[in-house]
Amino acid sequence: MFEPILLKRANLPRSDSIDVYVANGGYEGLRTALKRAPDELIDMVKRSGLRGRGGAGFPAGLKWGFMPKDADVQKVLCVNTDEGEPGTFKDRELIEKDPHQVIEGVIITAYAVGASRAFVYIRGEFFLGVKRWTKAIADAYASGFLGHDILGSGFSLDLTVHRGAGAYICGEETAMIESLEGKRGEPRKKPPYPAQSGYWELPTLVHNVETLANVPHIVLNGPEWYAAIGTPKSAGPKIFCVSGHVYRRGTYELPLGTPLSAIIDEYAGGVPGGRRIKAVIPGGASTPLLTPEQLDTPMDFESLAAAGSALGTGAIVVMDETTCMVDVARRTARFFAHESCGKCTPCRVGSRRIAEILEGIEAGRGREGDIERLRDLCDGIAGDTFCPMGDALIAPIRSSLAHFEQEYWDHIRTGRCAVTAA
Ligand code: SF4
Repeated sequence: MFEPILLKRANLPRSDSIDVYVANGGYEGLRTALKRAPDELIDMVKRSGLRGRGGAGFPAGLKWGFMPKDADVQKVLCVNTDEGEPGTFKDRELIEKDPHQVIEGVIITAYAVGASRAFVYIRGEFFLGVKRWTKAIADAYASGFLGHDILGSGFSLDLTVHRGAGAYICGEETAMIESLEGKRGEPRKKPPYPAQSGYWELPTLVHNVETLANVPHIVLNGPEWYAAIGTPKSAGPKIFCVSGHVYRRGTYELPLGTPLSAIIDEYAGGVPGGRRIKAVIPGGASTPLLTPEQLDTPMDFESLAAAGSALGTGAIVVMDETTCMVDVARRTARFFAHESCGKCTPCRVGSRRIAEILEGIEAGRGREGDIERLRDLCDGIAGDTFCPMGDALIAPIRSSLAHFEQEYWDHIRTGRCAVTAA
């Protein structure tokens, strides 16, 4: 049984309070970090193999290394708490149940890259999260962990909470920075990358909540300890969110590389009623579906890519044999059509056309040629959008058509769903 690292305090009474955090070893990583040189910390994170947990999986230490070294340039750190990928609820759990763990990661990271200003960009609907963040930050200031001359180290950091207005695209780092500056949340052209020119053109490092929560543990226990968890290329623990047709929906912290079947059967209790699994979304709504033959796939970056999907946010959605896959595709397409920021035509128009066709098929108005039209629209969007959301929105549609085309034909020919009618 794997002993949780990131969620180890999550079920303690008053786990969100600073007293409980400190009494259980909290802020010891920060005390250790402040005695080391910033470059030493960057090197530790590089050697640990920590990769971003927001979806892209970019090596965190490498990202830290992109920040300029000049001491006279103001630098900024942004905490991406705009968790909006359907099926994903891990960051919310971390900020509601153990906000100080993330704050400690923020302070260590800011110290390592020389940032004196940090922002928490939080999804507007996370009411409890905003409350917990705000209280935790105030308590951290009062205890000398934030503000001027932290713990007498000479290092100073200010941290502020900024509520978003509920746009999925603001999970993309440059759109988040635009929103943080008070503008409409739309992605920026890259390069320049945020490390060169981010928040108000200042060098800016953007990290996901779960990524930052790992940092104090790496500092305290060492990069070798961390790198030994998981697989050689996908190191560390990962919080998997499991939802859909399982007995025990929830979050499970396990080493990267744990087989999908073990997470579903051993931790989430398997599928109710002895029904068979029809498909699984392994990493959030934007990741291609896995089929029952792929259930033994290890949940790590490389294995999922080899299986034709992606780890994404680690949000596992299990669908049993009673699921209508056309309906799943329709809901997914409607979500992305609603969330398209509208900046580029293939995504703005294409996502709506895909959603409309799927709604027609689902409602019994499907026509010969609809499947071909869906494929053409996906081809027209692929690689032709301003930001990666175009590719994200077509990935689940393409994989649904690849694995379940017959269900689409059944809907079109009979005007009804053979699966849910059975
Ligand atoms: Fe906006 Fe284009 Fe990105 Fe879609 S692909 S979210 S329209 S920038």
